[in-house]
Amino acid sequence: MARFIFITGGVVSSLGKGLASAALGALLQARGYSVRLRKLDPYLNVDPGTMSPFEHGEVFVTDDGAETDLDLGHYERFTGVPACKTDSVSSGRIYSDVLEKERRGDYLGKTIQVIPHVTNQIKDFIRIGEDDVDFMLCEIGGTVGDIEGLPFFEAIRQFGQDKPRGQCLYMHLTLLPFIKASGELKTKPTQHSVKEMRSIGLAPDILVCRSEGPIPEKERAKLALFCNVRPESVIAAQDLSSIYDAPLAYHREGLDQAVLDAFQISPAPRPDLTKWEDVSDRVHNPEGDVKIAIVGKYTQLEDAYKSIAEALTHGGMANRVKVKVEWVDAEIFDTEDPAPYLEGFNAILVPGGFGERGTEGKIKAAQFARERKVPYLGICLGMQMAVIEAARNVAGVKTAGSEEFDHEAGKKRFEPVVYHLKEWVQGNYKVKRGVGDDKGGTMRLGAYDAMLTEGSKVADVYGSRQIEERHRHRYEVDIKYREQLEDCGLRFSGMSPDGRLPEIVEWTDHPWFIGVQFHPELKSKPFAPHPLFKDFVRAAKETSRLV
Ligand code: GLN
Repeated sequence: MARFIFITGGVVSSLGKGLASAALGALLQARGYSVRLRKLDPYLNVDPGTMSPFEHGEVFVTDDGAETDLDLGHYERFTGVPACKTDSVSSGRIYSDVLEKERRGDYLGKTIQVIPHVTNQIKDFIRIGEDDVDFMLCEIGGTVGDIEGLPFFEAIRQFGQDKPRGQCLYMHLTLLPFIKASGELKTKPTQHSVKEMRSIGLAPDILVCRSEGPIPEKERAKLALFCNVRPESVIAAQDLSSIYDAPLAYHREGLDQAVLDAFQISPAPRPDLTKWEDVSDRVHNPEGDVKIAIVGKYTQLEDAYKSIAEALTHGGMANRVKVKVEWVDAEIFDTEDPAPYLEGFNAILVPGGFGERGTEGKIKAAQFARERKVPYLGICLGMQMAVIEAARNVAGVKTAGSEEFDHEAGKKRFEPVVYHLKEWVQGNYKVKRGVGDDKGGTMRLGAYDAMLTEGSKVADVYGSRQIEERHRHRYEVDIKYREQLEDCGLRFSGMSPDGRLPEIVEWTDHPWFIGVQFHPELKSKPFAPHPLFKDFVRAAKETSRLV
């Protein structure tokens, strides 16, 4: 049966709870344990799939097709454990499940209340698969004291009581602000946060304190005394220059040891950290750099393309170069020539996106990359835009466009080279969708196979003829145009197993131009960079040598 670690946050948000959880997961693995990480989010959306990336950052898609919080991306990148539907839940999901049960009559006439019905639903979620791993790490979104977080905090309090003593641990992440004038790290906000926790019946066993520098002995002792934890369980989380230093940094601070001590696991297995030492070495000792432009819409908020930025970093690590990413707003090219903006980059990436805004600019970026022979990676919408560019400017389909934009505008303006997919095969099932369907959870989501053409660039890059990648889209390139486009040199080098859905396109007379309908970035890890990103950065490095 698993041991449970509950991770909460206090004082302010964005302290890196997700990263701390992921790093702890990696450290427990380094000690030989199996782990699973989960995120419990107090917001009322049923899942983040319908939230704007401006609000919530990227939506991370799992193999089994769940649209989840971006923290699940951190969990996967640090532990390599593929996340699944049952690793992410929100208040919205919990309440809608409770209400569904109520309508079905499952509660046998009882009055439905937050305690015990909502808290029971949360506890049932936490328990899923508890026999399959050594440690289950559950991160609670938001901060202690938030009204909407209360049912979750109450549920994890009860959970600790339900389980035998010593099977649950509470880790609390806070901030130690540094007051320049007095030259002091302040412990008071942390004391208040722990007091707040105690008022709802929770007592942290471990305090992880974000601070700009090390925690002096005096402050550590004060925190231990006032917050009722052992001094060794006050862990400093100093700002790091790379997130991939987190496992080693937390290990140096004694986090994994404190966790094992709290569970009274003795003697603790020795950790094997060679994987993370290699990762850290690659991050900090590049032998050159490459400049890559990401031409997208959500460029103000880097979290909107979190996994892409990380996958590029991994590609750089594999090639021993530092990838310098610059975010270029696609809308600029709606009216301006992209050349002055894009010259000087070693490669161009056009990421996924929704809606028409910025798409003419993305099409121009694809054209620039094709004509100037600059390495190009188009992801999802980035592939669709590359196909539209090919259709318009090479195959002579002058009005080529996507049905997505006509649907949005409510009028027909384009020849639909990219069309709304209404029926497809998932495993042994046929999935059907209508244009007016609900927005939440209705896309082609999750892992699907693709077959690669022998002798194509992608078959070479993957070193395989069959791959499995994660999807998240409603629209699809129409194979009706395949012959016409292939005659122009745009090869459809990856197709769905039934041959109906184009998965990958590539220009045959270009050093590196690949568009993929799926999201390869979601599967990249620092210790196992994704082959497409690895080769894309290699191609960028080649051009940097030529310049
Ligand atoms: N908007 C496009 C579609 O729905 C692309 C989606 C994406 O890039 N993830 O097909």
